[in-house]
Amino acid sequence: MSKTAVIIGAGAGGLSAAVDLAVAGWQVDVFDSNSEPGGKMHQRQVGDVSINGGPTVFTMHWVFDELFKRAGAKLDSRVRLTESKRLARHAWADGSHLDLFHDMDQSAAAIAHFSDDQNAEGYRRFCAHGELVHDLLRDNFMATAQPSPIRLGYRLLRDGGLNALAVAPHKTLWQALGHYFTDPRLRQLYGRYATYVGSSPLSTPSTLMLVAHVERQGVWCVDGGMRALAQSIAELGEEHGAKFHFNSHVATVDCTNGHATGVTLTSGESVSADVVIFNGDAAALSDGLLGTAVSRSVPTRAPSARGLSAITWCINGSTSGFDLDYHNVFFADDYQKEFTSIFEEGRICAEPTVYVCAQDRVNGGLTRAGDERLLLLINAPAHGDRTTWTSDDLRQQREKAFRVLARGGLSIDFQEEACLATAPYDWNERFPASGGSLYGAASHGMFSSFSRPSAKTQIQGLYLAGGSAHPGPGVPMATLSGSLAARQILGDAA
Ligand SMILES: Cc1cc2nc3c(=O)[nH]c(=O)nc-3n(C[C@H](O)[C@H](O)[C@H](O)COP(=O)(O)OP(=O)(O)OC[C@H]3O[C@@H](n4cnc5c(N)ncnc54)[C@H](O)[C@@H]3O)c2cc1C
Repeated sequence: MSKTAVIIGAGAGGLSAAVDLAVAGWQVDVFDSNSEPGGKMHQRQVGDVSINGGPTVFTMHWVFDELFKRAGAKLDSRVRLTESKRLARHAWADGSHLDLFHDMDQSAAAIAHFSDDQNAEGYRRFCAHGELVHDLLRDNFMATAQPSPIRLGYRLLRDGGLNALAVAPHKTLWQALGHYFTDPRLRQLYGRYATYVGSSPLSTPSTLMLVAHVERQGVWCVDGGMRALAQSIAELGEEHGAKFHFNSHVATVDCTNGHATGVTLTSGESVSADVVIFNGDAAALSDGLLGTAVSRSVPTRAPSARGLSAITWCINGSTSGFDLDYHNVFFADDYQKEFTSIFEEGRICAEPTVYVCAQDRVNGGLTRAGDERLLLLINAPAHGDRTTWTSDDLRQQREKAFRVLARGGLSIDFQEEACLATAPYDWNERFPASGGSLYGAASHGMFSSFSRPSAKTQIQGLYLAGGSAHPGPGVPMATLSGSLAARQILGDAA
Protein backbone atom coordinates (compact mmCIF):
# COMPACT_ATOMS: atom_id res chain seq x y z
CA MET A 1 0.00 0.00 0.00
CA SER A 2 1.34 3.43 -0.90
CA LYS A 3 2.01 5.98 1.82
CA THR A 4 -0.40 8.90 2.13
CA ALA A 5 0.16 12.65 2.48
CA VAL A 6 -2.27 15.48 3.07
CA ILE A 7 -1.05 18.93 2.01
CA ILE A 8 -2.79 22.00 3.42
CA GLY A 9 -2.44 24.72 0.79
CA ALA A 10 -1.73 24.76 -2.93
CA GLY A 11 0.72 27.68 -2.89
CA ALA A 12 4.17 27.34 -4.42
CA GLY A 13 5.48 25.16 -1.57
CA GLY A 14 2.40 22.92 -1.42
CA LEU A 15 2.50 22.39 -5.17
CA SER A 16 6.14 21.34 -5.40
CA ALA A 17 5.73 19.04 -2.38
CA ALA A 18 2.69 17.47 -4.09
CA VAL A 19 4.64 16.84 -7.30
CA ASP A 20 7.71 15.39 -5.59
CA LEU A 21 5.71 13.09 -3.30
CA ALA A 22 3.36 11.96 -6.08
CA VAL A 23 6.37 11.20 -8.29
CA ALA A 24 7.77 9.10 -5.42
CA GLY A 25 4.56 7.04 -5.49
CA TRP A 26 2.77 8.58 -2.51
CA GLN A 27 -0.97 9.10 -2.51
CA VAL A 28 -1.31 12.87 -2.19
CA ASP A 29 -4.39 14.96 -1.35
CA VAL A 30 -4.09 18.75 -1.42
CA PHE A 31 -6.74 20.91 0.29
CA ASP A 32 -6.95 24.66 -0.26
CA SER A 33 -9.50 27.20 0.95
CA ASN A 34 -9.16 28.95 -2.36
CA SER A 35 -10.94 28.00 -5.58
CA GLU A 36 -7.76 27.30 -7.58
CA PRO A 37 -4.06 26.52 -7.12
CA GLY A 38 -1.37 29.17 -6.65
CA GLY A 39 -2.03 30.93 -3.33
CA LYS A 40 -0.38 34.32 -3.77
CA MET A 41 0.13 33.52 -7.48
CA HIS A 42 -3.30 34.79 -8.38
CA GLN A 43 -5.22 37.11 -10.66
CA ARG A 44 -7.92 39.65 -9.88
CA GLN A 45 -10.92 40.18 -12.10
CA VAL A 46 -11.28 43.87 -12.92
CA GLY A 47 -14.34 44.32 -15.13
CA ASP A 48 -13.78 41.99 -18.04
CA VAL A 49 -9.99 41.63 -17.66
CA SER A 50 -7.82 39.47 -15.38
CA ILE A 51 -4.86 41.21 -13.79
CA ASN A 52 -1.96 39.50 -12.01
CA GLY A 53 -2.32 40.57 -8.39
CA GLY A 54 0.60 38.67 -6.87
CA PRO A 55 4.15 37.84 -7.94
CA THR A 56 5.28 39.14 -11.32
CA VAL A 57 9.10 38.70 -11.28
CA PHE A 58 9.94 35.15 -12.36
CA THR A 59 13.55 34.19 -11.53
CA MET A 60 15.61 31.06 -10.68
CA HIS A 61 14.36 29.20 -13.76
CA TRP A 62 16.48 26.20 -12.68
CA VAL A 63 14.26 25.50 -9.67
CA PHE A 64 11.29 24.84 -11.97
CA ASP A 65 13.37 23.11 -14.66
CA GLU A 66 14.50 20.61 -12.05
CA LEU A 67 11.01 20.14 -10.57
CA PHE A 68 9.51 19.41 -14.00
CA LYS A 69 12.46 17.18 -14.92
CA ARG A 70 12.01 15.08 -11.78
CA ALA A 71 8.41 14.55 -12.92
CA GLY A 72 9.52 13.56 -16.44
CA ALA A 73 8.37 16.80 -18.10
CA LYS A 74 9.89 19.98 -19.52
CA LEU A 75 8.96 23.37 -18.09
CA ASP A 76 9.40 25.14 -21.43
CA SER A 77 6.94 22.84 -23.17
CA ARG A 78 4.26 23.49 -20.49
CA VAL A 79 4.65 27.18 -19.72
CA ARG A 80 5.42 29.94 -22.24
CA LEU A 81 8.24 32.10 -20.91
CA THR A 82 9.72 35.20 -22.53
CA GLU A 83 13.04 36.43 -21.25
CA SER A 84 12.93 40.16 -20.42
CA LYS A 85 15.48 42.23 -22.31
CA ARG A 86 15.44 44.74 -19.49
CA LEU A 87 15.36 43.64 -15.85
CA ALA A 88 13.51 46.80 -14.87
CA ARG A 89 13.11 50.49 -15.65
CA HIS A 90 13.76 52.86 -12.72
CA ALA A 91 12.66 56.47 -12.36
CA TRP A 92 13.36 59.22 -9.84
CA ALA A 93 11.52 62.40 -9.01
CA ASP A 94 14.32 64.53 -10.55
CA GLY A 95 13.39 63.06 -13.94
CA SER A 96 16.35 60.66 -14.16
CA HIS A 97 15.82 57.13 -15.52
CA LEU A 98 17.90 53.98 -15.46
CA ASP A 99 17.29 50.66 -17.22
CA LEU A 100 19.11 47.57 -15.97
CA PHE A 101 19.88 44.54 -18.08
CA HIS A 102 20.74 40.89 -17.76
CA ASP A 103 24.07 41.71 -19.44
CA MET A 104 26.58 43.21 -16.98
CA ASP A 105 28.43 45.29 -19.62
CA GLN A 106 25.19 46.80 -20.86
CA SER A 107 24.14 47.72 -17.31
CA ALA A 108 27.61 49.10 -16.48
CA ALA A 109 27.44 51.31 -19.59
CA ALA A 110 23.95 52.48 -18.58
CA ILE A 111 25.18 53.27 -15.05
CA ALA A 112 28.24 55.16 -16.38
CA HIS A 113 25.88 57.28 -18.49
CA PHE A 114 23.33 57.72 -15.69
CA SER A 115 25.91 58.35 -12.94
CA ASP A 116 29.68 58.11 -13.58
CA ASP A 117 32.54 55.65 -14.22
CA GLN A 118 33.28 55.24 -10.50
CA ASN A 119 29.73 53.97 -9.85
CA ALA A 120 29.89 51.76 -12.96
CA GLU A 121 33.08 50.22 -11.55
CA GLY A 122 31.31 49.87 -8.15
CA TYR A 123 28.49 48.07 -9.94
CA ARG A 124 30.95 45.55 -11.40
CA ARG A 125 32.43 44.90 -7.94
CA PHE A 126 28.92 44.58 -6.51
CA CYS A 127 28.03 42.01 -9.19
CA ALA A 128 31.20 39.99 -8.55
CA HIS A 129 30.53 39.99 -4.82
CA GLY A 130 26.84 39.11 -5.28
CA GLU A 131 27.78 36.18 -7.50
CA LEU A 132 30.26 34.89 -4.94
CA VAL A 133 27.68 35.08 -2.15
CA HIS A 134 25.08 33.41 -4.32
CA ASP A 135 27.35 30.57 -5.41
CA LEU A 136 28.45 29.90 -1.83
CA LEU A 137 24.92 29.94 -0.44
CA ARG A 138 23.07 28.14 -3.25
CA ASP A 139 24.11 24.63 -2.23
CA ASN A 140 25.21 25.37 1.34
CA PHE A 141 22.06 27.18 2.44
CA MET A 142 19.16 27.16 -0.04
CA ALA A 143 19.29 23.48 -0.96
CA THR A 144 20.09 22.29 2.58
CA ALA A 145 17.24 21.10 4.81
CA GLN A 146 18.46 22.50 8.12
CA PRO A 147 21.40 24.87 7.77
CA SER A 148 23.05 25.99 10.97
CA PRO A 149 25.38 29.01 11.20
CA ILE A 150 28.25 26.80 12.40
CA ARG A 151 27.83 24.19 9.70
CA LEU A 152 27.39 26.89 7.07
CA GLY A 153 30.51 28.74 8.30
CA TYR A 154 32.48 25.51 7.98
CA ARG A 155 31.14 24.79 4.50
CA LEU A 156 31.72 28.36 3.35
CA LEU A 157 35.33 28.22 4.46
CA ARG A 158 35.74 24.76 2.96
CA ASP A 159 34.23 25.75 -0.40
CA GLY A 160 35.11 29.41 -0.59
CA GLY A 161 38.38 29.73 1.32
CA LEU A 162 39.27 33.32 2.14
CA ASN A 163 36.66 34.52 -0.37
CA ALA A 164 34.03 33.40 2.12
CA LEU A 165 34.97 36.36 4.30
CA ALA A 166 33.45 38.58 1.63
CA VAL A 167 29.98 37.42 2.74
CA ALA A 168 30.37 39.74 5.77
CA PRO A 169 26.90 39.19 7.27
CA HIS A 170 27.66 41.51 10.21
CA LYS A 171 27.11 44.49 7.88
CA THR A 172 23.65 45.55 6.81
CA LEU A 173 22.86 45.65 3.11
CA TRP A 174 22.56 49.44 3.34
CA GLN A 175 26.03 49.77 4.90
CA ALA A 176 27.57 47.39 2.38
CA LEU A 177 26.03 49.26 -0.55
CA GLY A 178 27.91 52.39 0.57
CA HIS A 179 31.15 50.54 -0.33
CA TYR A 180 30.07 50.13 -3.94
CA PHE A 181 28.02 53.21 -4.78
CA THR A 182 28.57 56.88 -4.06
CA ASP A 183 25.43 57.78 -6.02
CA PRO A 184 22.53 57.67 -3.52
CA ARG A 185 20.10 56.64 -6.27
CA LEU A 186 22.05 53.44 -6.87
CA ARG A 187 22.20 52.67 -3.18
CA GLN A 188 18.44 53.09 -3.14
CA LEU A 189 17.98 50.90 -6.23
CA TYR A 190 20.05 48.02 -4.87
CA GLY A 191 18.72 48.44 -1.34
CA ARG A 192 15.26 47.73 -2.75
CA TYR A 193 16.21 44.09 -3.29
CA ALA A 194 15.77 43.59 0.48
CA THR A 195 12.04 44.06 -0.07
CA TYR A 196 11.95 40.91 -2.23
CA VAL A 197 12.21 39.03 1.07
CA GLY A 198 9.93 41.43 2.93
CA SER A 199 12.77 43.24 4.67
CA SER A 200 14.35 46.65 5.19
CA PRO A 201 17.75 47.28 3.58
CA LEU A 202 18.64 49.12 6.80
CA SER A 203 18.41 45.90 8.86
CA THR A 204 18.90 42.99 6.49
CA PRO A 205 22.40 41.47 6.30
CA SER A 206 24.60 42.29 3.31
CA THR A 207 24.38 38.67 2.14
CA LEU A 208 20.97 39.62 0.71
CA MET A 209 22.89 41.21 -2.18
CA LEU A 210 22.55 37.75 -3.67
CA VAL A 211 18.95 38.67 -4.60
CA ALA A 212 20.27 41.22 -7.12
CA HIS A 213 22.51 38.51 -8.55
CA VAL A 214 19.57 36.12 -8.86
CA GLU A 215 17.70 38.75 -10.86
CA ARG A 216 20.74 39.49 -13.04
CA GLN A 217 20.81 35.80 -14.01
CA GLY A 218 17.55 36.40 -15.83
CA VAL A 219 13.94 37.50 -15.46
CA TRP A 220 11.14 35.96 -17.48
CA CYS A 221 7.55 36.92 -18.17
CA VAL A 222 5.12 34.04 -17.82
CA ASP A 223 2.41 33.97 -20.47
CA GLY A 224 -0.86 34.05 -18.51
CA GLY A 225 0.96 35.30 -15.39
CA MET A 226 2.33 33.32 -12.46
CA ARG A 227 -1.12 31.80 -12.06
CA ALA A 228 -0.44 29.87 -15.29
CA LEU A 229 2.77 28.52 -13.73
CA ALA A 230 0.84 27.38 -10.65
CA GLN A 231 -1.79 25.68 -12.79
CA SER A 232 0.87 23.92 -14.78
CA ILE A 233 2.58 22.58 -11.64
CA ALA A 234 -0.80 21.42 -10.29
CA GLU A 235 -1.46 19.60 -13.59
CA LEU A 236 1.94 17.95 -13.32
CA GLY A 237 1.01 16.71 -9.85
CA GLU A 238 -2.34 15.44 -11.11
CA GLU A 239 -0.64 13.52 -13.92
CA HIS A 240 1.25 11.65 -11.19
CA GLY A 241 -1.91 10.99 -9.20
CA ALA A 242 -2.10 13.94 -6.77
CA LYS A 243 -5.67 15.00 -6.03
CA PHE A 244 -6.61 18.65 -5.48
CA HIS A 245 -9.62 19.72 -3.41
CA PHE A 246 -10.47 23.42 -3.67
CA ASN A 247 -12.84 25.52 -1.56
CA SER A 248 -11.80 23.15 1.26
CA HIS A 249 -10.59 24.89 4.40
CA VAL A 250 -8.71 22.75 6.92
CA ALA A 251 -9.88 23.45 10.48
CA THR A 252 -7.49 21.21 12.43
CA VAL A 253 -4.48 19.01 12.09
CA ASP A 254 -5.40 15.85 13.98
CA CYS A 255 -2.92 14.10 16.23
CA THR A 256 -2.79 10.79 18.07
CA ASN A 257 -0.13 10.32 20.74
CA GLY A 258 1.70 13.43 19.55
CA HIS A 259 1.83 12.24 15.96
CA ALA A 260 -0.03 14.01 13.11
CA THR A 261 -2.53 11.57 11.68
CA GLY A 262 -4.59 13.68 9.29
CA VAL A 263 -6.83 16.72 9.08
CA THR A 264 -10.42 17.76 9.65
CA LEU A 265 -12.03 20.21 7.26
CA THR A 266 -14.47 22.94 8.27
CA SER A 267 -17.12 20.83 6.50
CA GLY A 268 -16.55 18.24 9.26
CA GLU A 269 -14.94 15.68 6.96
CA SER A 270 -11.81 14.00 8.38
CA VAL A 271 -9.03 12.69 6.19
CA SER A 272 -6.29 10.50 7.63
CA ALA A 273 -2.73 10.39 6.32
CA ASP A 274 0.76 9.20 7.20
CA VAL A 275 2.06 12.77 7.01
CA VAL A 276 0.61 16.29 6.87
CA ILE A 277 2.34 19.26 5.22
CA PHE A 278 1.23 22.76 6.15
CA ASN A 279 1.78 25.35 3.38
CA GLY A 280 0.13 28.35 5.08
CA ASP A 281 2.04 30.89 7.18
CA ALA A 282 3.77 28.89 9.93
CA ALA A 283 2.45 31.42 12.47
CA ALA A 284 -1.05 29.97 11.91
CA LEU A 285 0.14 26.80 13.68
CA SER A 286 1.63 28.59 16.71
CA ASP A 287 -1.41 30.91 16.88
CA GLY A 288 -3.57 27.81 17.31
CA LEU A 289 -5.53 28.29 14.08
CA LEU A 290 -5.04 24.63 13.18
CA GLY A 291 -5.96 23.38 16.65
CA THR A 292 -4.24 23.20 20.03
CA ALA A 293 -2.71 19.78 19.32
CA VAL A 294 -0.19 21.40 16.95
CA SER A 295 0.17 24.86 18.48
CA ARG A 296 3.63 23.97 19.79
CA SER A 297 4.83 22.43 16.56
CA VAL A 298 6.78 25.58 15.57
CA PRO A 299 8.29 28.45 17.59
CA THR A 300 5.95 31.39 18.21
CA ARG A 301 6.64 34.40 15.99
CA ALA A 302 6.11 37.88 17.46
CA PRO A 303 4.04 40.22 15.25
CA SER A 304 7.01 42.64 15.35
CA ALA A 305 9.10 40.07 13.45
CA ARG A 306 6.78 40.06 10.45
CA GLY A 307 8.10 41.09 7.07
CA LEU A 308 6.52 43.65 4.78
CA SER A 309 2.95 43.71 3.69
CA ALA A 310 1.73 45.81 0.75
CA ILE A 311 -1.12 47.77 -0.66
CA THR A 312 -1.69 46.87 -4.27
CA TRP A 313 -3.98 48.26 -6.95
CA CYS A 314 -4.99 46.26 -9.99
CA ILE A 315 -5.95 48.84 -12.59
CA ASN A 316 -7.23 48.64 -16.13
CA GLY A 317 -6.44 52.08 -17.53
CA SER A 318 -4.48 54.18 -19.98
CA THR A 319 -1.06 55.65 -19.27
CA SER A 320 0.80 58.68 -20.59
CA GLY A 321 3.98 60.68 -20.03
CA PHE A 322 6.30 57.73 -19.32
CA ASP A 323 7.42 54.89 -21.55
CA LEU A 324 6.67 51.94 -19.27
CA ASP A 325 8.41 48.58 -19.50
CA TYR A 326 7.05 45.37 -17.88
CA HIS A 327 8.74 46.07 -14.50
CA ASN A 328 9.04 49.70 -13.38
CA VAL A 329 10.05 51.29 -10.10
CA PHE A 330 9.33 54.91 -9.18
CA PHE A 331 11.52 56.02 -6.29
CA ALA A 332 10.71 58.71 -3.76
CA ASP A 333 13.51 60.90 -2.36
CA ASP A 334 13.96 59.60 1.18
CA TYR A 335 14.35 55.85 0.97
CA GLN A 336 15.44 55.32 4.59
CA LYS A 337 12.28 57.06 5.80
CA GLU A 338 10.16 54.51 3.96
CA PHE A 339 11.53 51.70 6.15
CA THR A 340 11.78 53.54 9.47
CA SER A 341 8.12 54.55 8.98
CA ILE A 342 7.02 50.96 8.37
CA PHE A 343 9.18 49.04 10.83
CA GLU A 344 9.54 51.63 13.63
CA GLU A 345 6.38 53.74 13.38
CA GLY A 346 4.00 51.19 11.86
CA ARG A 347 2.82 53.43 9.04
CA ILE A 348 3.38 54.19 5.39
CA CYS A 349 5.53 57.27 4.78
CA ALA A 350 4.29 60.32 2.88
CA GLU A 351 6.21 59.36 -0.28
CA PRO A 352 6.37 55.61 -0.84
CA THR A 353 8.34 53.91 -3.61
CA VAL A 354 5.91 52.56 -6.20
CA TYR A 355 6.38 49.38 -8.24
CA VAL A 356 4.36 49.26 -11.46
CA CYS A 357 3.97 46.05 -13.45
CA ALA A 358 2.68 46.95 -16.92
CA GLN A 359 1.46 43.50 -17.83
CA ASP A 360 0.82 44.15 -21.50
CA ARG A 361 4.32 45.42 -22.22
CA VAL A 362 6.49 42.33 -22.59
CA ASN A 363 9.83 43.70 -23.87
CA GLY A 364 8.61 47.16 -24.61
CA GLY A 365 5.63 47.92 -26.85
CA LEU A 366 2.04 47.46 -25.83
CA THR A 367 0.67 44.05 -26.85
CA ARG A 368 -2.95 45.10 -26.43
CA ALA A 369 -5.03 47.91 -27.90
CA GLY A 370 -6.91 50.30 -25.61
CA ASP A 371 -6.47 50.20 -21.85
CA GLU A 372 -3.60 48.30 -20.28
CA ARG A 373 -3.42 46.09 -17.23
CA LEU A 374 -1.35 47.43 -14.35
CA LEU A 375 -0.38 46.23 -10.89
CA LEU A 376 0.80 48.99 -8.54
CA LEU A 377 2.42 48.10 -5.22
CA ILE A 378 3.63 50.08 -2.22
CA ASN A 379 5.15 48.55 0.90
CA ALA A 380 3.07 48.60 4.08
CA PRO A 381 3.35 47.37 7.68
CA ALA A 382 1.94 43.88 8.33
CA HIS A 383 -0.74 45.07 10.76
CA GLY A 384 -3.61 43.54 8.83
CA ASP A 385 -4.92 41.75 11.92
CA ARG A 386 -5.03 45.01 13.90
CA THR A 387 -5.91 47.70 11.36
CA THR A 388 -8.75 47.84 8.90
CA TRP A 389 -8.57 50.21 5.97
CA THR A 390 -11.58 52.25 4.92
CA SER A 391 -12.03 53.12 1.26
CA ASP A 392 -11.04 56.70 2.18
CA ASP A 393 -7.77 55.48 3.76
CA LEU A 394 -7.02 53.49 0.64
CA ARG A 395 -7.82 56.45 -1.62
CA GLN A 396 -5.42 58.62 0.38
CA GLN A 397 -2.66 56.04 0.01
CA ARG A 398 -3.38 55.83 -3.70
CA GLU A 399 -3.08 59.60 -4.00
CA LYS A 400 0.33 59.44 -2.30
CA ALA A 401 1.45 56.75 -4.75
CA PHE A 402 0.12 58.69 -7.72
CA ARG A 403 2.03 61.81 -6.64
CA VAL A 404 5.28 59.79 -6.71
CA LEU A 405 4.37 58.43 -10.16
CA ALA A 406 3.56 61.94 -11.41
CA ARG A 407 6.94 63.24 -10.24
CA GLY A 408 8.54 60.43 -12.26
CA GLY A 409 6.43 61.54 -15.25
CA LEU A 410 3.67 58.87 -15.29
CA SER A 411 -0.08 59.58 -15.37
CA ILE A 412 -2.73 56.87 -15.26
CA ASP A 413 -6.34 57.43 -16.30
CA PHE A 414 -9.00 54.95 -15.28
CA GLN A 415 -12.60 54.63 -14.17
CA GLU A 416 -13.03 54.09 -10.43
CA GLU A 417 -14.64 50.68 -11.04
CA ALA A 418 -11.53 49.62 -13.02
CA CYS A 419 -9.33 49.79 -9.90
CA LEU A 420 -9.25 47.06 -7.21
CA ALA A 421 -7.23 47.67 -4.05
CA THR A 422 -5.84 44.96 -1.76
CA ALA A 423 -4.66 46.06 1.69
CA PRO A 424 -2.83 44.28 4.56
CA TYR A 425 -6.23 43.50 6.05
CA ASP A 426 -7.24 41.58 2.89
CA TRP A 427 -3.90 39.73 2.70
CA ASN A 428 -4.34 38.68 6.33
CA GLU A 429 -7.82 37.32 5.54
CA ARG A 430 -6.45 35.28 2.65
CA PHE A 431 -3.29 34.15 4.47
CA PRO A 432 -4.34 33.65 8.10
CA ALA A 433 -2.00 34.67 10.96
CA SER A 434 0.27 36.57 8.57
CA GLY A 435 -0.99 40.03 9.58
CA GLY A 436 -0.77 40.60 5.82
CA SER A 437 2.96 39.88 5.67
CA LEU A 438 3.59 38.55 2.19
CA TYR A 439 6.94 36.99 3.01
CA GLY A 440 6.77 35.46 6.51
CA ALA A 441 9.29 36.88 9.02
CA ALA A 442 11.58 39.73 8.01
CA SER A 443 15.26 38.84 7.42
CA HIS A 444 16.52 41.34 9.97
CA GLY A 445 19.78 40.70 11.82
CA MET A 446 22.77 38.50 11.18
CA PHE A 447 21.14 35.17 12.05
CA SER A 448 17.62 35.84 10.83
CA SER A 449 17.91 33.44 7.90
CA PHE A 450 18.60 30.62 10.35
CA SER A 451 15.60 31.35 12.54
CA ARG A 452 13.03 30.31 9.92
CA PRO A 453 11.50 26.97 10.78
CA SER A 454 12.72 24.08 8.65
CA ALA A 455 10.46 21.46 7.04
CA LYS A 456 10.39 19.19 10.08
CA THR A 457 8.27 20.45 12.98
CA GLN A 458 8.20 19.46 16.65
CA ILE A 459 5.23 17.19 15.92
CA GLN A 460 6.06 13.89 14.29
CA GLY A 461 4.44 13.56 10.90
CA LEU A 462 3.81 17.33 10.51
CA TYR A 463 5.97 19.24 8.04
CA LEU A 464 6.15 22.79 6.68
CA ALA A 465 6.44 24.14 3.15
CA GLY A 466 6.16 27.72 1.94
CA GLY A 467 7.62 31.18 2.15
CA SER A 468 7.55 31.37 5.96
CA ALA A 469 9.74 28.23 6.20
CA HIS A 470 13.36 27.64 5.15
CA PRO A 471 14.82 28.71 2.71
CA GLY A 472 12.43 31.69 2.61
CA PRO A 473 9.96 33.69 0.54
CA GLY A 474 9.56 34.30 -3.17
CA VAL A 475 8.05 31.82 -5.61
CA PRO A 476 11.28 29.90 -6.37
CA MET A 477 12.36 29.72 -2.74
CA ALA A 478 8.91 28.59 -1.58
CA THR A 479 8.99 26.00 -4.37
CA LEU A 480 12.36 24.79 -3.06
CA SER A 481 10.90 24.57 0.45
CA GLY A 482 8.18 22.18 -0.78
CA SER A 483 10.79 19.98 -2.42
CA LEU A 484 12.89 20.05 0.77
CA ALA A 485 9.80 18.97 2.76
CA ALA A 486 9.18 16.09 0.34
CA ARG A 487 12.83 15.05 0.55
CA GLN A 488 12.68 15.13 4.37
CA ILE A 489 9.50 13.03 4.39
CA LEU A 490 10.97 10.45 2.02
CA GLY A 491 14.12 10.30 4.15
CA ASP A 492 12.13 9.91 7.39
CA ALA A 493 9.96 7.18 5.85
CA ALA A 494 12.91 5.18 4.50
C1 LIG B 1 1.68 41.29 -4.32
C2 LIG B 1 2.78 40.27 -4.24
C3 LIG B 1 3.90 40.41 -5.04
C4 LIG B 1 4.93 39.46 -4.99
N1 LIG B 1 5.98 39.57 -5.87
C5 LIG B 1 6.80 38.51 -6.02
C6 LIG B 1 7.64 38.41 -7.17
O1 LIG B 1 7.61 39.28 -8.05
N2 LIG B 1 8.44 37.32 -7.30
C7 LIG B 1 8.44 36.31 -6.36
O2 LIG B 1 9.18 35.32 -6.54
N3 LIG B 1 7.65 36.38 -5.26
C8 LIG B 1 6.82 37.43 -5.08
N4 LIG B 1 5.92 37.46 -4.05
C9 LIG B 1 6.03 36.45 -2.97
C10 LIG B 1 5.51 35.09 -3.43
O3 LIG B 1 4.27 35.23 -4.06
C11 LIG B 1 5.37 34.18 -2.23
O4 LIG B 1 6.57 34.16 -1.47
C12 LIG B 1 5.04 32.75 -2.62
O5 LIG B 1 4.10 32.69 -3.66
C13 LIG B 1 4.52 32.05 -1.36
O6 LIG B 1 4.19 30.74 -1.63
P1 LIG B 1 3.78 29.77 -0.44
O7 LIG B 1 4.23 28.39 -0.80
O8 LIG B 1 4.26 30.32 0.85
O9 LIG B 1 2.19 29.71 -0.45
P2 LIG B 1 1.09 30.86 -0.43
O10 LIG B 1 1.08 31.56 -1.73
O11 LIG B 1 1.19 31.68 0.80
O12 LIG B 1 -0.22 29.97 -0.38
C14 LIG B 1 -0.62 29.29 0.78
C15 LIG B 1 -1.92 28.58 0.46
O13 LIG B 1 -2.34 27.89 1.62
C16 LIG B 1 -3.75 27.98 1.70
N5 LIG B 1 -4.14 27.76 3.09
C17 LIG B 1 -3.64 28.36 4.20
N6 LIG B 1 -4.27 27.89 5.31
C18 LIG B 1 -5.17 26.98 4.88
C19 LIG B 1 -6.12 26.14 5.55
N7 LIG B 1 -6.25 26.14 6.88
N8 LIG B 1 -6.89 25.31 4.80
C20 LIG B 1 -6.77 25.27 3.45
N9 LIG B 1 -5.89 26.05 2.77
C21 LIG B 1 -5.10 26.89 3.48
C22 LIG B 1 -4.07 29.38 1.20
O14 LIG B 1 -5.40 29.46 0.72
C23 LIG B 1 -3.04 29.53 0.07
O15 LIG B 1 -3.57 29.13 -1.17
C24 LIG B 1 4.86 38.38 -4.07
C25 LIG B 1 3.73 38.23 -3.27
C26 LIG B 1 2.69 39.15 -3.38
C27 LIG B 1 1.44 38.92 -2.59
